[in-house]
Amino acid sequence: MFCKNCGAELSDEATVCTSCGTEVKKPAAKKGFSVEKLKFRKGESSIVALVASAVMILMVFLPYVKVEFLGMSETQTLISAGDGIFFLVIAVAGILAGLMGEKKPMIIVGVIACVFALFEVVDFANAVKEVSAYGLGDMVKRGIAFYLMILSAAGLIAAPFVQKFLNK
Ligand SMILES: [Zn+2]
Repeated sequence: MFCKNCGAELSDEATVCTSCGTEVKKPAAKKGFSVEKLKFRKGESSIVALVASAVMILMVFLPYVKVEFLGMSETQTLISAGDGIFFLVIAVAGILAGLMGEKKPMIIVGVIACVFALFEVVDFANAVKEVSAYGLGDMVKRGIAFYLMILSAAGLIAAPFVQKFLNK
């Protein structure tokens, strides 16, 4: 390196210029989060994971359940029910894993997505079963988000395997 004051050549370890005595400031090391560490590689992103994640984000705001009772109907979304936030977190992780295009993170996100979706499917079935005991099973209907939830979770778990096939 060179002295900023007089331009004399100095050793990399120097703290003071041997020629003019000016204090030498070393360039600060890069701190914190580095995008390069995530190894985003051009052309290796998983389109399937990105599309599935986008669908998952969209679906939490769409009608998930429709309840019809005494001529009234009410729809609820996953975000209004509170569980939507989990799917938003999964979708963001899905986008990051999809951009990296790496198998392991995509499988982890896919498995988590499927576990949550399965939990919701079972939860929904139990709710329908409960009201069916009173002969009101017909009043609870699945909305478009219910099916998009299954579709997007299936897309996330399929993504790493589709990616492997495409890379061949
Ligand atoms: Zn100097």
